[in-house]
Order: sequence, then C-alpha cells, then structure tokens
Amino acid sequence: MTHPPTLALLAAALAAAARGWPVFPLRPGDKRPAGHAEHRCPRTGRCENGHLTPEQRATTDPGLIRACWQSWNGRPYNVGIATGPAALLVIDLDKPKDKDKDKDKKDSPDGETTFKALCERAAQPVPATHRVRTASGGIHLYFTAPHGARLRNSAGKLGPLIDTRAGGGYVVAPGSLTAAGRYETLDDTPAVPLPTWLLALLQPDQPRPTALLKLPAVDGSRAALAALERECATVATAPDKQRNTLLNRCAFKVGRFVAWGDLPRHQVEVAFQAAGESRGLTAAECRTTIRSALDSSIRTARPRETA
Ligand SMILES: [Zn+2]
Repeated sequence: MTHPPTLALLAAALAAAARGWPVFPLRPGDKRPAGHAEHRCPRTGRCENGHLTPEQRATTDPGLIRACWQSWNGRPYNVGIATGPAALLVIDLDKPKDKDKDKDKKDSPDGETTFKALCERAAQPVPATHRVRTASGGIHLYFTAPHGARLRNSAGKLGPLIDTRAGGGYVVAPGSLTAAGRYETLDDTPAVPLPTWLLALLQPDQPRPTALLKLPAVDGSRAALAALERECATVATAPDKQRNTLLNRCAFKVGRFVAWGDLPRHQVEVAFQAAGESRGLTAAECRTTIRSALDSSIRTARPRETA
C-alpha cells in the first residue's frame, strides 16, 4: 500500500499556516476532523479544561504543526483550515452527487454554473481570487472576510450546490487526499476581500425594522388596509429564498384593492417597497417586482361583486 507523502501534507499545513490560516488535522484519507468527538471527550490532555473543538485547536504555530503531522501512525493526516479564525469566507461550488438518483437533481447545473449566473445577474465579474479544486471536482473560492462581519457557514443561501464556510466551519486544504481524489490549488494568488455584493447576500438576517411597516392612516377601506398590512408583514418575514416570489405574490393580492379604488397605488408601492427592502431586496428589485405585480393584478382584477 502506498501512502501519500507525509512531508507533502506537513508542507501543506505549514503553507496554510504561513498565510495566517490556522490548521488542524483531519483523519487520514478523510474530510472529517481527527481526534475525538465532544460526546467522547476524555477531559484530559488538551481537553483538561473542557472539550476543544477543531476550530479551537487550530493553530498557525509551526512547532505544533510539525509535532502533529510528524506523529502520524500509519497514514498522514489531511489538513483542515479553520475558516473562522483564519478570517476567511470560502465559497464552495459543488458538483451534483452521482448518487443522486433523482434525475432532475443529477442534471441540475453545478455550483460553478449557478455562481456564474448569479454574478451575471448582479452585473459583477466572477471574482478572481485564491482557488482550489476539491477532490470531487468542485471549486473553493477563498475570500478574506471583512473585520467584524460575523459570517457563519451557509448551505444553499447563494444558490443550489453553493455553500459557504466561515465561522464554525473549515475547508480541506490543498494537498489533502481522499478516496475521491486530491485537493489542488488552481490559482495561488492571495485571497481577495469578499466583494460587498456577496457580503450583502450572506450577512446574517438583520432584525426586521418593523417600524417601517406602520402604515399611514389614509383612505382605503379597512379591509384593504388590513390586507396591505398583512401582505407586507408576509414579505418582511419571508424566508431568504422566497422573498422576491412572496413580494410578487403579496403585491399581486393587494393589487385588486387598487383596481377597485380602495387604496391609492402610490401608497401600496411605498408600503411594499419598505417591506421588500427591510427583507434585504435591493430598491431596484423591489420596484421592478412591485410594478409588474400591480400592473398584472390591476389588469386582471375582476369586478368586486364576483371576486
Ligand atoms: Zn475533548
């Protein structure tokens, strides 16, 4: 049996640490952290004062790294980079899994294609930054996280087959070898700062500014105003993936009250604009969606009697 060269993995760990990225050992030939899980913690040695997670154990100290990677018994450890302490945000563009028997899923675009489309829609270039090919043929894009951004891992937040690794997470470093293949550096340039438009999409949900939703008491039947308030609240609390769909649907529902003359169109637009923006949609996205939903609703509204 041939072992991957220990020195290569030690070198990979030292190289990551030299960039300021704390590392910890992964099981030989595997993506999972080496060492015991929290529920098996012996509360001795390094865990004497309580279990240490891989993130807490991760280090850039070359002495500790040498000691760890030279202490292998049998096969050398792979290398994990703790993205949180490294102040990194890594975008993980995955491939559909072969084991996905669901044909739709298997044929769906991979993470890289979806990410390109996302950049195109945002009228932004695909960021040129430190880039690693994963064992399964996916891509890791490395970015430096803005100071104090408190970014966490995310799954599917940017799109299908796109995950991110940040606080609390880790990535498998290049040089590591698993049954699926080797992790290899594709572009060795330093990680660039996370573009602000991506940061905006990944930022933890802000507390909803509910004050924005207090509607001015103006004309409009009570039922119409109640509907407006209710639908705006739905938009303001929409799940990430549905906020634009719900903005469209909710504005459409209220459109008939505009058609019937119960509410001025301008008031409805202002209320939904505030709700949509408070949920993190851009002003332009909100305007476009609201205009199209109202146009369509007003055009197709039935007379009140038959509604
Ligand atoms: Zn422990």
